[in-house]
Amino acid sequence: MAKLMTREISEEIVRDVDSFLFDCDGVLWDGNGPIKGSLETVLRLKELGKQVFYVTNNSSQTRDDYVKKCATYGFPAQKDEILCTAYIAAEYLRTANFKDKVYVIGKKEAMGAELENAGIRYTGTGPDPLEGNTYADWLSNIKLDPEVKCVLVGFDPHISYMKLIRAASYLKKPDCVYLATNEDSSLPVKNSDICIPGTGCIVKPVSLASGREPIVMGKPAPNMFEVLRKVHNLEPSRCMMIGDRKDTDIMFAKNCGMRSMLVFSGISSIDDIQQISDTEELEESQPDYYAENLAGLGIFI
Ligand SMILES: [Mg+2]
Repeated sequence: MAKLMTREISEEIVRDVDSFLFDCDGVLWDGNGPIKGSLETVLRLKELGKQVFYVTNNSSQTRDDYVKKCATYGFPAQKDEILCTAYIAAEYLRTANFKDKVYVIGKKEAMGAELENAGIRYTGTGPDPLEGNTYADWLSNIKLDPEVKCVLVGFDPHISYMKLIRAASYLKKPDCVYLATNEDSSLPVKNSDICIPGTGCIVKPVSLASGREPIVMGKPAPNMFEVLRKVHNLEPSRCMMIGDRKDTDIMFAKNCGMRSMLVFSGISSIDDIQQISDTEELEESQPDYYAENLAGLGIFI
């Protein structure tokens, strides 16, 4: 059962955890800037000699973008302390020695940039409106690039029916690799009537049309941790993931064998803990610890 963060627990954590992985949006900051207690907590952990990593499913920004964003809010961050899904996708293909071309549904400035950094060729970014009005037009007009051997789907504000046709068509070839940066259902928006659909809403139609399931780069899949683990030689039992979403952040911690802490400064609320506390089969989706926000850990350390 999830435990409220207390002085006693925090002492145990400071003793037994060397590396802290933070989700960013809804944990460290939101649309208004740093969340109460987050900056102080991160700085204090650094002072205690702990490793701090920034782990985000956001596929619209590069690691360099995140270094700048962290600096804007005062969070100390080096490039190798940042894990974002555009980078992880490029790293996945680079380490697999992928030499062909990638069809990208995503932003050129982030997904394109990270692929370029990894020396991988790609096509597909930017607007791609539907050519022709009829089914017959589409069949005769659409040209596929024979060099494409991977479809990579991330967040793309230019998503169009044409892009879905291309992605699903490339995936008809069984040897075409299918990657998705993440499957988040929506982007975090606070105090608004507007819902902004997330990358999961772009991945789903590609999967449905192609009858394929992607290899997912982001949380809750363990790829991000595997990359981090290799570079920094991490021991999962001495790591803790702190996030605001159970379905991504907390499940990521569980899938990687890390401790987990849920904060209520983003998507989840105390109701998510109470709702499941009596249901045995959902016990495994529970975080180890919870607090209102990061100050709930920070005040004790
Ligand atoms: Mg979040």
